Amino acid sequence: MVREIIIWPDPVLKEVAKPVDRVDDGIRRLLDDMAETMYAADGVGLAAPQIAVLKRVIVIDTSPRQEGQTLVHLVNPEIVKTEGETTYTEGCLSIPGEAEDVERAAKVWVRALGRDGKRFELECEGLLAIAVQHEYDHLQGTLFVDHLSSLKRELIRKRMKKLKAEQEAERASERASEVKGAKRHESAL
Ligand SMILES: [Zn+2]
Repeated sequence: MVREIIIWPDPVLKEVAKPVDRVDDGIRRLLDDMAETMYAADGVGLAAPQIAVLKRVIVIDTSPRQEGQTLVHLVNPEIVKTEGETTYTEGCLSIPGEAEDVERAAKVWVRALGRDGKRFELECEGLLAIAVQHEYDHLQGTLFVDHLSSLKRELIRKRMKKLKAEQEAERASERASEVKGAKRHESAL
């Protein structure tokens, strides 16, 4: 099921997500919903807090832009080692239409539980390494805008607030037309 992606600024995106006790069917359903939501939004990664679920769960699929990659499920991920530095122009499904350069480690080693609940370690380079760091940040309540100057961040915040207000107005008018529709239906009786 495709879930609604929370747009920044929103307090839920600032929360620290909680570790998962056990990878059960509920967590597997969450992983499936997250992958579906990520693909529907044309993203390469999604963290559970972005759909208002404060659990340490991440999905990443960089295959559209990185050869040899596939869908990765990370439950309770830990970045155990980093190497080098790189700068990448990052976007975020919770900050639509915005992209800025962010400095990251070039290579990371992540340890996590998989969809089967088994522990594994993954060596990540290129976009996958960026995505792991970006999504891990989400579990800590950090967004890519938190790596920018406060001036840039405030400009983006203003644009996002405007976008959210427009979305809200659109939803209100949809609700209003639904109500009208219902009235028409009633008077047709
Ligand atoms: Zn993001």
